[in-house]
Amino acid sequence: MHHISDMRTALLRWYDEQGRTLPWRVRPEDRARGVVPDPYAVWLSEVMSQQTTLAHATPYWAAFLSAFPTVSDLANADRDLVLSMWAGLGYYARARNLHKCAGVVRDTHAGIFPTDEKTLLSLPGIGPYTAATIAAICADEATNIVDGNVERVISRMFAYKLALPKGRKGLRDLAGTLVRADRPGDYGQALMDLGASLCSPKNPSCDLCPWRKWCVAHEQGDQTTYPIKVKKKPTPIRRGYVYILRCGDEILMEQRPDKGLLGGMLGLPTSAWGETPIDHAAAPENRNWELIGDVKHVFTHFELRLDVFMAEADVMQVDEKPHRVWGSDFSGLPTVFRKVAELSR
Ligand code: SF4
Repeated sequence: MHHISDMRTALLRWYDEQGRTLPWRVRPEDRARGVVPDPYAVWLSEVMSQQTTLAHATPYWAAFLSAFPTVSDLANADRDLVLSMWAGLGYYARARNLHKCAGVVRDTHAGIFPTDEKTLLSLPGIGPYTAATIAAICADEATNIVDGNVERVISRMFAYKLALPKGRKGLRDLAGTLVRADRPGDYGQALMDLGASLCSPKNPSCDLCPWRKWCVAHEQGDQTTYPIKVKKKPTPIRRGYVYILRCGDEILMEQRPDKGLLGGMLGLPTSAWGETPIDHAAAPENRNWELIGDVKHVFTHFELRLDVFMAEADVMQVDEKPHRVWGSDFSGLPTVFRKVAELSR
């Protein structure tokens, strides 16, 4: 279709002039000079920035690259170190997969990060979006990159009527009709930038948008109707108890089992989390536990409310449980446990 090439030209021109500069990104002018993006660095940035802001993810990205300059360095690192450096980014299954994926790249790809979509899809923790993004950015493969931002732009462009999540496949196909072999990496990044900047969820800046004249939702004045989504059920609430056993500055921490939420991460002794408060069976020993406060934390599928109990220990006993350790550095704790631990101070 004639206007598709016009749309692409307009978007790429906008990207050349106004696309974001990101630490892992090679800007078009540098690309033209032959600078090639590092797929390992791009992969790290993509995995880290899912479900969070770039501002939050960027320091983690820089810390990982400086501690593990190559994918083999990451693979060779102790997994507990990787998990503790990930603490605060959430979604810890991703950190475990990150380490696993690095190991596979080291062992089966000679430490060279693949850049073709098909091979990328075979790696642990890499889904369609990440594979498409790395292949487009690093190998200029004409893949169809669709993240939440792109969904918003495309659904508005075409005033797409099917509600998500059911309509997701059709929306993806629609996005795919715009993909061409000409500068696919820049095109994908341009589209993501458009969604992340001008085509914002609540107040799109249509006046500045390179796609304004083709955008059906803009023409109809109902931009924020799209993407249409099936109404979510209210987030369920789970409750539980968590225990701070304190001795001087140090508190008792424990490594969580590999399986389950926050698996493999350092945490604090806690009861199971359920719809009604759980009994105190998980408390370390029988002590004079005192209720000192509560902590709320929102996970993807539920909100957690924890009652926080604290007791003082005279000596740093570990209840003969090898996965328990004493410590005063809370930086390796996932956010929910860090919030709890801070109450000990
Ligand atoms: S014109 Fe407005 S709604 Fe349409 S793509 Fe551009 S910013 Fe989004």
